[in-house]
Amino acid sequence: MSLSPPIIDLHEDISLYYFLGGYGLKFKAEDFGVDLPGRHGDIPKFRRANAKIIFSSIAHIIPSLNAYRLGQQTSGYGVKVGAMRIRSPTLITLEHIKTYYNLLASYRDALALMSRRSDVENVFKDDRTFFLIAIEGSEPLEDIEDMDLFYMLGVRSLQITWNFDNKFAASCMSKRDYGLTGDGEELVKRCNELGVIIDLAHASRRTTLDALSASKLPAIVSHANIASVHKHVRNLDDEELEALSRNGGVVGITLIEPTIGKVADVKSLADHVQYVYQRFGSENLAIGTDFFGIMHVEEPRGLEDITKFGNLWAELINRGLSEGDVEKIAFRNALRVIEANASRWVEKPF
Ligand SMILES: [Zn+2]
Repeated sequence: MSLSPPIIDLHEDISLYYFLGGYGLKFKAEDFGVDLPGRHGDIPKFRRANAKIIFSSIAHIIPSLNAYRLGQQTSGYGVKVGAMRIRSPTLITLEHIKTYYNLLASYRDALALMSRRSDVENVFKDDRTFFLIAIEGSEPLEDIEDMDLFYMLGVRSLQITWNFDNKFAASCMSKRDYGLTGDGEELVKRCNELGVIIDLAHASRRTTLDALSASKLPAIVSHANIASVHKHVRNLDDEELEALSRNGGVVGITLIEPTIGKVADVKSLADHVQYVYQRFGSENLAIGTDFFGIMHVEEPRGLEDITKFGNLWAELINRGLSEGDVEKIAFRNALRVIEANASRWVEKPF
């Protein structure tokens, strides 16, 4: 028996893939309507995987030869990746939003934007895949109220930091973990008012704890793994998991090879799921693949693209999780967080 629940994926960098022309990936930037061999996802694969909601991330980063940034990112990922930096993030974010609009316009019968409450209510009556647009790092916001502008453009989730410190919070690669700043706290408050889902992936430990206690709505850590299983700067420790559990949020277990362990395969990824399951039950687990963002590293064996999740579900069933638990991890928990935030979504926020 193979399980094939619907999927909500909390993190894919689809616009970055087109923006950088497939940079660092093993497959070219080609037509999204084609079932391209080796590609992490595309319309035919989303259909086969029953991918219902994809958090469609905006990584407003550009390649760089800067030695400090290269060192930072090499130490963080354990592999010599091409350095990325941030420049004109507001303008670049607008370009990414246009990329998503263009994709949605080209495939109206297969893709749709998730931006209204009715979209959340109707998602399972509709056979299309919904893109929930998310910004990866708050650098594009010069002021807190810029969040309102991005909200009006359809953005429904904000990751407070990427790998760099910013004026709202310290990142996972911070030399000096100052947590959430005063402005950061106000930003969390405004996101809550708008129903913009707070995302703490790539955040520092203090930022994560500060934001989870500041947020009145359930938050996500869209793509991260578990530090007790494999120590990594991007992974969550037990105190962060406890805070996430109190907040009612979810962690999207991720496919980024260096965050998984010495071996990256279905079994080693299942170890991360099982650890959370044994301590906190199945309520706080979700998936956040980082497809299209996992450049320069291998995907875990058995999870090379979005259609392969049956392998993980089978492994979890073998380890004693129920079908109901698997459904929660595949989509129900993420949906619960989306619904809680979407209850604030209005046509005109001001
Ligand atoms: Zn990321």
